[in-house]
Amino acid sequence: MNTLGNFINGKHIPSKSGRLSPVYNPATGEQSIHVSLSTADETRQAIATAHEAFATWKAVTPLRRAQILFRFKSLLESNFDLLAELISLEHGKVLSDAKGELTRGMEVVEFACGIPHLQKGEFSANVGTGVDSYSLMQPLGVCAGISPFNFPVMVPMWMFPIAIACGNTFVMKPSEKDPSVIMKVAELLTEAGLPDGVFNIVNGDKEAVDVLLTDARVQAVSFVGSTPIAEYIYATGSQHGKRVQALGGAKNHMVVMPDAETEQVVSALMGAAYGSAGERCMAISVAVCVGDEAAEKLITEIKKEVSNMLVGPGTGGDQEPHMGPLISQVHAEKVKHYIDTGVQDGASLLIDGRDFKVAGHERGYFVGPTLFDNVKPGMRIYDEEIFGPVLSVVRVSSYQEAVDLINAHEYGNGTAIFTGSGESARHFCEQIQVGMVGVNVPIPVPMAFHSFGGWKRSVFGPLNMHGNDGVRFFTRMKTVTARWPKSDVTTHSFSMPTMK
Ligand code: NAD
Repeated sequence: MNTLGNFINGKHIPSKSGRLSPVYNPATGEQSIHVSLSTADETRQAIATAHEAFATWKAVTPLRRAQILFRFKSLLESNFDLLAELISLEHGKVLSDAKGELTRGMEVVEFACGIPHLQKGEFSANVGTGVDSYSLMQPLGVCAGISPFNFPVMVPMWMFPIAIACGNTFVMKPSEKDPSVIMKVAELLTEAGLPDGVFNIVNGDKEAVDVLLTDARVQAVSFVGSTPIAEYIYATGSQHGKRVQALGGAKNHMVVMPDAETEQVVSALMGAAYGSAGERCMAISVAVCVGDEAAEKLITEIKKEVSNMLVGPGTGGDQEPHMGPLISQVHAEKVKHYIDTGVQDGASLLIDGRDFKVAGHERGYFVGPTLFDNVKPGMRIYDEEIFGPVLSVVRVSSYQEAVDLINAHEYGNGTAIFTGSGESARHFCEQIQVGMVGVNVPIPVPMAFHSFGGWKRSVFGPLNMHGNDGVRFFTRMKTVTARWPKSDVTTHSFSMPTMK
Protein backbone atom coordinates (compact mmCIF):
# COMPACT_ATOMS: atom_id res chain seq x y z
CA MET A 1 0.00 0.00 0.00
CA ASN A 2 1.28 3.48 -0.93
CA THR A 3 2.42 5.84 1.80
CA LEU A 4 2.16 9.55 1.12
CA GLY A 5 5.08 11.59 2.44
CA ASN A 6 5.80 15.30 2.07
CA PHE A 7 6.45 17.69 -0.83
CA ILE A 8 9.47 19.81 -0.01
CA ASN A 9 11.73 21.85 -2.30
CA GLY A 10 9.87 20.67 -5.41
CA LYS A 11 10.18 16.95 -4.64
CA HIS A 12 8.25 14.15 -2.97
CA ILE A 13 10.15 13.27 0.20
CA PRO A 14 9.18 10.19 2.21
CA SER A 15 8.64 10.85 5.90
CA LYS A 16 10.71 8.96 8.46
CA SER A 17 8.25 9.52 11.29
CA GLY A 18 6.87 5.96 11.33
CA ARG A 19 3.52 7.39 12.45
CA LEU A 20 0.91 6.69 9.78
CA SER A 21 -2.73 7.58 9.33
CA PRO A 22 -5.04 5.53 7.07
CA VAL A 23 -6.85 7.21 4.16
CA TYR A 24 -10.13 5.53 3.14
CA ASN A 25 -12.49 5.48 0.22
CA PRO A 26 -15.61 6.49 2.19
CA ALA A 27 -17.95 4.88 -0.35
CA THR A 28 -16.49 1.41 0.19
CA GLY A 29 -14.88 1.68 3.63
CA GLU A 30 -11.66 0.33 2.13
CA GLN A 31 -8.31 1.86 2.95
CA SER A 32 -6.60 3.25 -0.17
CA ILE A 33 -3.27 4.60 1.17
CA HIS A 34 -1.40 5.64 4.30
CA VAL A 35 -0.39 9.22 4.94
CA SER A 36 2.64 9.96 7.10
CA LEU A 37 2.24 12.12 10.16
CA SER A 38 5.42 14.18 9.98
CA THR A 39 7.70 14.86 12.89
CA ALA A 40 8.47 18.28 14.32
CA ASP A 41 11.93 18.10 12.69
CA GLU A 42 10.48 17.33 9.27
CA THR A 43 8.14 20.30 9.64
CA ARG A 44 11.06 22.53 10.60
CA GLN A 45 12.87 21.27 7.47
CA ALA A 46 9.94 22.42 5.30
CA ILE A 47 9.96 25.81 7.03
CA ALA A 48 13.74 26.12 6.53
CA THR A 49 13.32 25.35 2.81
CA ALA A 50 10.55 27.95 2.44
CA HIS A 51 12.62 30.46 4.40
CA GLU A 52 15.57 30.01 2.07
CA ALA A 53 13.38 30.25 -1.04
CA PHE A 54 11.87 33.52 0.20
CA ALA A 55 15.16 35.38 -0.29
CA THR A 56 14.93 34.98 -4.09
CA TRP A 57 11.16 34.62 -4.60
CA LYS A 58 10.37 37.99 -2.99
CA ALA A 59 12.59 39.66 -5.61
CA VAL A 60 10.77 38.05 -8.56
CA THR A 61 8.58 40.68 -10.22
CA PRO A 62 4.82 40.49 -9.68
CA LEU A 63 4.38 40.18 -13.45
CA ARG A 64 6.57 37.09 -13.58
CA ARG A 65 4.80 35.57 -10.57
CA ALA A 66 1.50 36.14 -12.37
CA GLN A 67 2.82 34.42 -15.50
CA ILE A 68 3.60 31.29 -13.46
CA LEU A 69 0.08 31.38 -12.00
CA PHE A 70 -1.43 31.68 -15.50
CA ARG A 71 0.44 28.51 -16.50
CA PHE A 72 -0.67 26.83 -13.26
CA LYS A 73 -4.29 27.71 -14.05
CA SER A 74 -3.96 26.18 -17.49
CA LEU A 75 -2.49 22.97 -15.99
CA LEU A 76 -5.38 22.79 -13.52
CA GLU A 77 -7.70 22.93 -16.52
CA SER A 78 -5.92 20.14 -18.38
CA ASN A 79 -5.91 17.95 -15.22
CA PHE A 80 -9.44 18.90 -14.20
CA ASP A 81 -11.05 15.45 -14.39
CA LEU A 82 -8.16 13.68 -12.67
CA LEU A 83 -8.16 16.18 -9.78
CA ALA A 84 -11.94 15.94 -9.38
CA GLU A 85 -11.72 12.15 -9.22
CA LEU A 86 -8.99 12.32 -6.55
CA ILE A 87 -11.23 14.58 -4.46
CA SER A 88 -14.24 12.33 -4.87
CA LEU A 89 -12.38 9.10 -4.09
CA GLU A 90 -11.01 10.31 -0.76
CA HIS A 91 -13.70 12.77 0.34
CA GLY A 92 -16.74 10.93 -0.99
CA LYS A 93 -18.51 13.91 -2.60
CA VAL A 94 -20.10 13.33 -6.00
CA LEU A 95 -18.00 14.16 -9.07
CA SER A 96 -20.01 17.21 -10.18
CA ASP A 97 -19.60 18.64 -6.67
CA ALA A 98 -15.85 17.91 -6.72
CA LYS A 99 -15.67 19.77 -10.05
CA GLY A 100 -17.57 22.66 -8.51
CA GLU A 101 -15.08 22.81 -5.62
CA LEU A 102 -12.17 22.79 -8.05
CA THR A 103 -13.74 25.54 -10.15
CA ARG A 104 -14.18 27.78 -7.11
CA GLY A 105 -10.54 27.19 -6.16
CA MET A 106 -9.38 27.97 -9.69
CA GLU A 107 -11.23 31.28 -9.53
CA VAL A 108 -8.91 32.31 -6.69
CA VAL A 109 -5.93 31.43 -8.92
CA GLU A 110 -7.46 33.69 -11.61
CA PHE A 111 -7.84 36.45 -9.04
CA ALA A 112 -4.22 36.00 -7.92
CA CYS A 113 -3.10 36.34 -11.57
CA GLY A 114 -4.06 40.02 -11.17
CA ILE A 115 -1.31 40.55 -8.59
CA PRO A 116 0.57 43.27 -10.52
CA HIS A 117 -2.57 45.36 -10.11
CA LEU A 118 -3.57 44.13 -6.64
CA GLN A 119 -0.16 44.81 -5.09
CA LYS A 120 0.29 48.30 -6.55
CA GLY A 121 -0.05 50.25 -3.33
CA GLU A 122 -0.98 53.93 -3.24
CA PHE A 123 0.80 57.10 -4.27
CA SER A 124 0.19 60.74 -3.39
CA ALA A 125 2.27 63.38 -5.15
CA ASN A 126 3.18 66.60 -3.39
CA VAL A 127 1.80 65.85 0.07
CA GLY A 128 4.03 68.78 1.01
CA THR A 129 6.09 71.00 -1.25
CA GLY A 130 8.44 68.65 -3.07
CA VAL A 131 7.33 65.74 -0.88
CA ASP A 132 5.67 62.53 -2.16
CA SER A 133 4.13 59.71 -0.14
CA TYR A 134 3.58 56.14 -1.25
CA SER A 135 2.88 52.72 0.17
CA LEU A 136 4.62 49.43 -0.52
CA MET A 137 2.74 46.17 -0.01
CA GLN A 138 5.61 43.86 0.85
CA PRO A 139 5.47 40.08 1.33
CA LEU A 140 5.73 38.73 4.87
CA GLY A 141 8.03 35.72 4.44
CA VAL A 142 7.07 32.12 5.20
CA CYS A 143 3.30 31.66 5.50
CA ALA A 144 1.52 28.48 6.60
CA GLY A 145 -1.88 27.01 5.69
CA ILE A 146 -3.83 24.38 7.65
CA SER A 147 -6.95 23.06 5.97
CA PRO A 148 -10.00 20.87 6.76
CA PHE A 149 -11.14 17.66 5.06
CA ASN A 150 -14.30 19.00 3.48
CA PHE A 151 -12.69 21.06 0.69
CA PRO A 152 -9.32 19.38 0.13
CA VAL A 153 -8.44 21.60 -2.83
CA MET A 154 -10.64 24.72 -2.66
CA VAL A 155 -9.67 25.76 0.87
CA PRO A 156 -5.89 25.44 0.26
CA MET A 157 -6.53 27.49 -2.89
CA TRP A 158 -8.18 30.22 -0.82
CA MET A 159 -4.74 30.60 0.75
CA PHE A 160 -1.59 29.76 -1.21
CA PRO A 161 -2.25 31.31 -4.67
CA ILE A 162 -2.58 34.78 -3.13
CA ALA A 163 0.22 34.20 -0.64
CA ILE A 164 2.76 33.20 -3.30
CA ALA A 165 1.47 35.80 -5.77
CA CYS A 166 2.32 38.44 -3.13
CA GLY A 167 5.91 37.12 -2.95
CA ASN A 168 5.65 34.89 0.13
CA THR A 169 6.67 31.25 0.36
CA PHE A 170 4.30 28.66 1.76
CA VAL A 171 4.06 25.52 3.89
CA MET A 172 0.71 23.73 3.57
CA LYS A 173 -0.58 21.22 6.13
CA PRO A 174 -3.61 19.55 4.49
CA SER A 175 -6.20 17.40 6.23
CA GLU A 176 -4.85 13.91 6.91
CA LYS A 177 -8.21 12.47 5.73
CA ASP A 178 -7.93 13.36 2.02
CA PRO A 179 -4.39 14.56 1.25
CA SER A 180 -3.80 13.15 -2.28
CA VAL A 181 -5.30 15.90 -4.42
CA ILE A 182 -3.18 18.72 -3.00
CA MET A 183 -0.03 16.61 -3.55
CA LYS A 184 -0.94 16.45 -7.26
CA VAL A 185 -1.57 20.22 -7.25
CA ALA A 186 1.96 20.74 -5.86
CA GLU A 187 3.38 18.83 -8.84
CA LEU A 188 1.42 21.09 -11.19
CA LEU A 189 2.87 24.20 -9.53
CA THR A 190 6.37 22.87 -10.18
CA GLU A 191 5.42 22.04 -13.78
CA ALA A 192 4.13 25.61 -14.16
CA GLY A 193 7.60 26.91 -13.32
CA LEU A 194 7.27 27.77 -9.63
CA PRO A 195 10.80 27.70 -8.18
CA ASP A 196 11.52 24.85 -5.77
CA GLY A 197 10.86 25.66 -2.13
CA VAL A 198 8.19 28.32 -2.74
CA PHE A 199 5.33 25.88 -2.10
CA ASN A 200 5.81 22.93 0.27
CA ILE A 201 3.48 20.39 1.83
CA VAL A 202 3.89 18.76 5.22
CA ASN A 203 1.42 16.00 5.94
CA GLY A 204 0.65 15.48 9.59
CA ASP A 205 -1.39 16.25 12.64
CA LYS A 206 -1.03 18.36 15.81
CA GLU A 207 2.71 17.70 16.02
CA ALA A 208 3.31 19.41 12.64
CA VAL A 209 0.72 22.13 13.28
CA ASP A 210 2.30 23.10 16.59
CA VAL A 211 5.64 23.70 14.89
CA LEU A 212 3.95 25.93 12.28
CA LEU A 213 2.34 27.90 15.12
CA THR A 214 5.49 28.42 17.15
CA ASP A 215 8.49 28.51 14.78
CA ALA A 216 9.76 32.11 14.62
CA ARG A 217 10.35 31.89 10.84
CA VAL A 218 6.61 31.51 10.11
CA GLN A 219 5.06 34.97 9.76
CA ALA A 220 1.41 34.20 9.11
CA VAL A 221 -0.99 31.29 9.58
CA SER A 222 -4.18 30.72 7.61
CA PHE A 223 -6.52 28.14 9.13
CA VAL A 224 -9.91 26.68 8.23
CA GLY A 225 -11.54 23.96 10.34
CA SER A 226 -13.70 23.45 13.42
CA THR A 227 -14.21 26.20 15.99
CA PRO A 228 -12.32 24.66 18.95
CA ILE A 229 -9.22 24.13 16.77
CA ALA A 230 -9.61 27.57 15.11
CA GLU A 231 -9.64 29.16 18.56
CA TYR A 232 -6.53 27.21 19.56
CA ILE A 233 -4.73 28.14 16.32
CA TYR A 234 -5.60 31.83 16.75
CA ALA A 235 -4.53 31.96 20.40
CA THR A 236 -1.28 30.00 19.96
CA GLY A 237 -0.23 31.63 16.68
CA SER A 238 -0.96 35.14 18.01
CA GLN A 239 0.92 34.40 21.23
CA HIS A 240 3.92 33.59 19.07
CA GLY A 241 3.70 36.89 17.23
CA LYS A 242 2.09 35.63 14.02
CA ARG A 243 -0.63 37.14 11.93
CA VAL A 244 -3.52 34.64 12.05
CA GLN A 245 -6.80 34.21 10.18
CA ALA A 246 -8.74 31.23 11.57
CA LEU A 247 -12.14 30.27 10.18
CA GLY A 248 -14.26 27.92 12.26
CA GLY A 249 -17.54 26.02 12.31
CA ALA A 250 -21.05 27.02 11.38
CA LYS A 251 -24.78 26.57 11.85
CA ASN A 252 -26.46 28.24 8.91
CA HIS A 253 -30.14 29.21 8.98
CA MET A 254 -32.44 29.84 6.04
CA VAL A 255 -35.46 32.03 6.81
CA VAL A 256 -38.54 31.02 4.83
CA MET A 257 -41.00 33.93 4.77
CA PRO A 258 -44.73 33.31 4.19
CA ASP A 259 -44.45 35.10 0.82
CA ALA A 260 -41.56 32.92 -0.46
CA GLU A 261 -42.25 30.68 -3.44
CA THR A 262 -42.31 27.13 -2.05
CA GLU A 263 -40.95 25.59 -5.26
CA GLN A 264 -37.96 27.92 -5.28
CA VAL A 265 -37.31 27.36 -1.55
CA VAL A 266 -37.47 23.57 -1.82
CA SER A 267 -35.22 23.43 -4.85
CA ALA A 268 -32.65 25.66 -3.10
CA LEU A 269 -32.89 23.87 0.23
CA MET A 270 -32.42 20.33 -1.11
CA GLY A 271 -28.94 21.12 -2.45
CA ALA A 272 -28.02 23.44 0.44
CA ALA A 273 -28.97 20.93 3.15
CA TYR A 274 -28.08 17.58 1.58
CA GLY A 275 -25.48 18.46 -1.08
CA SER A 276 -22.03 17.10 -0.17
CA ALA A 277 -23.88 15.13 2.55
CA GLY A 278 -24.14 18.35 4.58
CA GLU A 279 -20.35 18.51 4.99
CA ARG A 280 -20.08 22.14 3.88
CA CYS A 281 -19.38 25.05 6.18
CA MET A 282 -22.05 26.96 4.22
CA ALA A 283 -24.61 24.14 4.22
CA ILE A 284 -28.06 25.13 5.46
CA SER A 285 -28.85 22.98 8.48
CA VAL A 286 -31.80 24.97 9.87
CA ALA A 287 -34.90 26.11 7.98
CA VAL A 288 -36.64 28.82 10.01
CA CYS A 289 -40.24 28.90 8.84
CA VAL A 290 -42.24 32.04 9.64
CA GLY A 291 -45.73 30.75 10.36
CA ASP A 292 -47.09 27.19 10.45
CA GLU A 293 -48.41 27.38 6.89
CA ALA A 294 -44.90 27.99 5.48
CA ALA A 295 -43.59 25.08 7.59
CA GLU A 296 -46.29 22.62 6.50
CA LYS A 297 -45.87 23.44 2.80
CA LEU A 298 -42.10 23.12 3.05
CA ILE A 299 -42.16 19.82 4.93
CA THR A 300 -44.63 18.22 2.50
CA GLU A 301 -42.45 19.11 -0.47
CA ILE A 302 -39.12 18.20 1.17
CA LYS A 303 -40.48 14.75 2.06
CA LYS A 304 -41.44 14.19 -1.60
CA GLU A 305 -38.06 15.35 -2.88
CA VAL A 306 -36.09 13.26 -0.37
CA SER A 307 -37.96 10.13 -1.42
CA ASN A 308 -36.60 10.73 -4.95
CA MET A 309 -33.02 11.34 -3.85
CA LEU A 310 -30.28 9.10 -5.13
CA VAL A 311 -27.53 8.39 -2.59
CA GLY A 312 -24.42 6.44 -3.59
CA PRO A 313 -20.70 6.50 -4.29
CA GLY A 314 -19.41 9.86 -5.50
CA THR A 315 -17.75 8.44 -8.58
CA GLY A 316 -20.64 6.09 -9.04
CA GLY A 317 -22.65 4.37 -11.71
CA ASP A 318 -24.57 5.44 -14.81
CA GLN A 319 -26.56 8.10 -13.01
CA GLU A 320 -24.67 10.44 -10.68
CA PRO A 321 -26.07 10.32 -7.13
CA HIS A 322 -27.25 13.54 -5.45
CA MET A 323 -25.24 12.80 -2.34
CA GLY A 324 -22.33 10.56 -1.34
CA PRO A 325 -21.08 9.12 1.96
CA LEU A 326 -19.63 10.95 4.96
CA ILE A 327 -15.88 11.23 5.40
CA SER A 328 -15.35 8.45 7.98
CA GLN A 329 -16.99 5.76 10.05
CA VAL A 330 -16.37 7.83 13.18
CA HIS A 331 -18.08 10.86 11.66
CA ALA A 332 -21.04 8.79 10.41
CA GLU A 333 -21.50 7.43 13.95
CA LYS A 334 -21.30 10.95 15.38
CA VAL A 335 -24.02 12.18 13.00
CA LYS A 336 -26.26 9.21 13.90
CA HIS A 337 -25.71 9.99 17.57
CA TYR A 338 -26.87 13.56 16.97
CA ILE A 339 -30.06 12.13 15.44
CA ASP A 340 -30.51 10.04 18.63
CA THR A 341 -30.18 13.17 20.78
CA GLY A 342 -32.73 15.02 18.62
CA VAL A 343 -35.28 12.30 19.33
CA GLN A 344 -34.40 12.25 23.06
CA ASP A 345 -34.70 16.07 23.25
CA GLY A 346 -38.24 15.94 21.84
CA ALA A 347 -37.82 17.06 18.21
CA SER A 348 -40.11 15.32 15.66
CA LEU A 349 -38.07 12.99 13.45
CA LEU A 350 -39.84 12.97 10.07
CA ILE A 351 -37.17 11.25 7.95
CA ASP A 352 -34.62 9.02 9.65
CA GLY A 353 -31.29 8.41 7.88
CA ARG A 354 -29.71 6.26 10.60
CA ASP A 355 -30.22 2.81 9.09
CA PHE A 356 -29.58 3.87 5.55
CA LYS A 357 -27.75 1.33 3.34
CA VAL A 358 -26.51 1.57 -0.23
CA ALA A 359 -26.75 -1.77 -2.01
CA GLY A 360 -23.30 -3.06 -2.91
CA HIS A 361 -21.65 -0.47 -0.60
CA GLU A 362 -22.73 -1.79 2.77
CA ARG A 363 -19.39 -0.87 4.36
CA GLY A 364 -19.52 2.72 3.06
CA TYR A 365 -20.02 5.60 5.51
CA PHE A 366 -23.54 6.50 4.40
CA VAL A 367 -26.14 8.32 6.47
CA GLY A 368 -29.41 8.99 4.70
CA PRO A 369 -31.03 12.42 4.36
CA THR A 370 -32.71 13.24 7.66
CA LEU A 371 -35.45 15.75 8.52
CA PHE A 372 -36.57 17.04 11.93
CA ASP A 373 -39.53 19.30 12.72
CA ASN A 374 -40.26 21.28 15.91
CA VAL A 375 -36.58 21.85 16.67
CA LYS A 376 -35.81 24.43 19.34
CA PRO A 377 -32.80 26.20 20.85
CA GLY A 378 -31.42 24.18 23.75
CA MET A 379 -31.58 20.93 21.76
CA ARG A 380 -28.12 19.70 20.75
CA ILE A 381 -29.21 19.26 17.12
CA TYR A 382 -29.98 23.00 17.06
CA ASP A 383 -27.13 24.37 19.16
CA GLU A 384 -24.25 22.36 17.70
CA GLU A 385 -22.77 21.88 14.24
CA ILE A 386 -23.67 18.36 13.03
CA PHE A 387 -21.89 18.48 9.66
CA GLY A 388 -24.09 15.82 8.12
CA PRO A 389 -27.28 15.46 6.02
CA VAL A 390 -29.61 16.53 8.83
CA LEU A 391 -32.07 19.38 8.25
CA SER A 392 -33.94 20.90 11.20
CA VAL A 393 -37.15 22.90 10.83
CA VAL A 394 -37.64 25.58 13.47
CA ARG A 395 -41.08 27.23 13.53
CA VAL A 396 -41.36 30.89 14.55
CA SER A 397 -44.38 33.16 14.52
CA SER A 398 -42.80 36.35 13.17
CA TYR A 399 -39.96 37.64 11.02
CA GLN A 400 -38.45 39.42 14.05
CA GLU A 401 -38.41 36.15 15.99
CA ALA A 402 -36.43 34.59 13.12
CA VAL A 403 -33.87 37.40 13.20
CA ASP A 404 -33.52 37.24 16.99
CA LEU A 405 -33.07 33.45 16.83
CA ILE A 406 -30.25 33.69 14.29
CA ASN A 407 -28.56 36.59 16.07
CA ALA A 408 -28.57 34.65 19.35
CA HIS A 409 -26.71 31.63 17.86
CA GLU A 410 -23.01 31.34 18.69
CA TYR A 411 -22.08 30.82 15.02
CA GLY A 412 -22.42 33.42 12.28
CA ASN A 413 -20.95 32.00 9.08
CA GLY A 414 -23.72 32.10 6.44
CA THR A 415 -27.47 32.65 6.30
CA ALA A 416 -30.21 33.21 3.73
CA ILE A 417 -33.68 34.68 3.49
CA PHE A 418 -36.25 33.56 0.94
CA THR A 419 -38.91 36.19 0.38
CA GLY A 420 -40.71 38.21 -2.29
CA SER A 421 -40.41 41.36 -0.19
CA GLY A 422 -37.54 43.74 -0.87
CA GLU A 423 -38.29 45.46 2.41
CA SER A 424 -37.85 42.28 4.49
CA ALA A 425 -34.73 41.30 2.54
CA ARG A 426 -33.12 44.70 2.97
CA HIS A 427 -33.91 44.80 6.69
CA PHE A 428 -32.50 41.27 7.06
CA CYS A 429 -29.20 42.16 5.34
CA GLU A 430 -28.87 45.18 7.61
CA GLN A 431 -29.76 43.55 10.94
CA ILE A 432 -28.47 40.00 10.74
CA GLN A 433 -25.25 39.22 12.65
CA VAL A 434 -23.77 36.83 10.12
CA GLY A 435 -20.82 37.30 7.75
CA MET A 436 -22.29 36.02 4.47
CA VAL A 437 -25.93 36.63 3.60
CA GLY A 438 -28.03 35.29 0.72
CA VAL A 439 -31.23 36.87 -0.57
CA ASN A 440 -33.08 34.10 -2.41
CA VAL A 441 -29.63 32.48 -2.72
CA PRO A 442 -29.14 29.49 -0.40
CA ILE A 443 -25.33 29.22 -0.29
CA PRO A 444 -23.97 32.76 -0.59
CA VAL A 445 -20.27 31.89 -1.01
CA PRO A 446 -18.55 35.12 -2.11
CA MET A 447 -16.63 35.07 -5.39
CA ALA A 448 -12.82 35.05 -5.34
CA PHE A 449 -12.64 38.84 -5.81
CA HIS A 450 -14.75 39.37 -2.69
CA SER A 451 -13.74 38.00 0.72
CA PHE A 452 -15.02 34.92 2.54
CA GLY A 453 -15.55 34.82 6.29
CA GLY A 454 -18.15 34.65 9.03
CA TRP A 455 -18.86 36.50 12.25
CA LYS A 456 -19.00 35.55 15.92
CA ARG A 457 -17.44 32.15 16.76
CA SER A 458 -17.17 31.22 13.08
CA VAL A 459 -14.01 33.30 12.72
CA PHE A 460 -10.99 34.43 14.74
CA GLY A 461 -8.85 37.28 13.38
CA PRO A 462 -9.73 40.45 11.51
CA LEU A 463 -9.00 39.56 7.87
CA ASN A 464 -11.04 37.11 5.79
CA MET A 465 -10.01 34.74 3.00
CA HIS A 466 -9.24 35.88 -0.58
CA GLY A 467 -10.39 39.11 -2.26
CA ASN A 468 -8.83 42.33 -0.98
CA ASP A 469 -8.64 40.94 2.58
CA GLY A 470 -6.52 38.06 1.28
CA VAL A 471 -4.03 40.45 -0.34
CA ARG A 472 -3.90 42.55 2.84
CA PHE A 473 -3.41 39.44 4.98
CA PHE A 474 -0.42 38.26 2.94
CA THR A 475 1.31 41.66 2.69
CA ARG A 476 2.74 44.15 5.12
CA MET A 477 2.22 47.81 4.40
CA LYS A 478 5.14 50.21 4.43
CA THR A 479 4.55 53.93 3.85
CA VAL A 480 7.36 56.08 2.48
CA THR A 481 7.48 59.85 2.68
CA ALA A 482 10.21 61.25 0.41
CA ARG A 483 11.57 64.66 -0.36
CA TRP A 484 13.45 65.13 -3.65
CA PRO A 485 15.59 67.12 -4.07
CA LYS A 486 16.94 67.83 -0.60
CA SER A 487 15.87 71.26 0.62
CA ASP A 488 18.19 73.64 2.43
CA VAL A 489 17.69 72.88 6.07
CA THR A 490 18.92 75.58 8.33
CA THR A 491 16.81 75.14 11.45
CA HIS A 492 15.80 72.16 13.59
CA SER A 493 12.13 71.62 14.36
CA PHE A 494 11.09 69.70 17.46
CA SER A 495 7.36 69.92 16.84
CA MET A 496 5.18 67.31 15.07
CA PRO A 497 5.88 67.57 11.31
CA THR A 498 3.04 69.17 9.35
CA MET A 499 3.06 69.94 5.64
CA LYS A 500 3.04 73.62 4.88
P1 NAD B 1 -10.69 20.03 12.13
O1 NAD B 1 -10.73 21.26 12.95
O2 NAD B 1 -10.80 18.72 12.81
O3 NAD B 1 -9.30 19.95 11.30
C1 NAD B 1 -8.84 21.04 10.54
C2 NAD B 1 -7.33 20.97 10.45
O4 NAD B 1 -6.77 21.11 11.77
C3 NAD B 1 -6.79 19.65 9.90
O5 NAD B 1 -5.71 19.93 9.05
C4 NAD B 1 -6.35 18.89 11.14
O6 NAD B 1 -5.27 18.02 10.90
C5 NAD B 1 -5.91 20.01 12.08
N1 NAD B 1 -6.12 19.66 13.49
C6 NAD B 1 -7.08 18.86 14.00
N2 NAD B 1 -6.96 18.77 15.34
C7 NAD B 1 -5.90 19.54 15.68
C8 NAD B 1 -5.28 19.86 16.93
N3 NAD B 1 -5.75 19.38 18.07
N4 NAD B 1 -4.23 20.69 16.91
C9 NAD B 1 -3.76 21.19 15.76
N5 NAD B 1 -4.30 20.92 14.55
C10 NAD B 1 -5.37 20.11 14.50
O7 NAD B 1 -11.81 20.19 10.99
P2 NAD B 1 -12.30 19.12 9.93
O8 NAD B 1 -13.11 18.08 10.63
O9 NAD B 1 -11.19 18.70 9.06
O10 NAD B 1 -13.27 20.04 9.04
C11 NAD B 1 -14.62 20.30 9.34
C12 NAD B 1 -14.77 21.61 10.07
O11 NAD B 1 -14.24 22.68 9.30
C13 NAD B 1 -16.23 21.98 10.31
O12 NAD B 1 -16.36 22.49 11.60
C14 NAD B 1 -16.50 23.06 9.27
O13 NAD B 1 -17.53 23.97 9.60
C15 NAD B 1 -15.19 23.75 9.23
N6 NAD B 1 -15.03 24.50 8.00
C16 NAD B 1 -15.17 25.85 8.08
C17 NAD B 1 -15.07 26.62 6.95
C18 NAD B 1 -15.22 28.11 7.00
O14 NAD B 1 -14.95 28.74 6.01
N7 NAD B 1 -15.62 28.70 8.12
C19 NAD B 1 -14.80 26.00 5.71
C20 NAD B 1 -14.65 24.62 5.67
C21 NAD B 1 -14.77 23.88 6.83
